[in-house]
Amino acid sequence: MRILDEERRKTPCKRFFGGYCKFETYCKYCHYSEKELQELERLVLAKKKANSKKRKKSTKWPWKTHTQTGLPISLQPIQLARLERTNFELSWG
Ligand SMILES: [Zn+2]
Repeated sequence: MRILDEERRKTPCKRFFGGYCKFETYCKYCHYSEKELQELERLVLAKKKANSKKRKKSTKWPWKTHTQTGLPISLQPIQLARLERTNFELSWG
């Protein structure tokens, strides 16, 4: 988890651990103790594990599609024309 990594890289906030820091979550220093960070990491890992158990939602179309583009056959001419135009504009614009 990116936020956790960032927190770990921060210097512990002297104000916060000295009693009070008015910046709270916006503080550029870390407001988590090593123990709290470990606990957070554990929670994040547990969450990750739980998420990985779930199957990814299928993004496939329910109807017959072109094998290469994965688009419904009826939509293809429009989509491809749009893509070609976009590419053209990008490369020359
Ligand atoms: Zn602080």
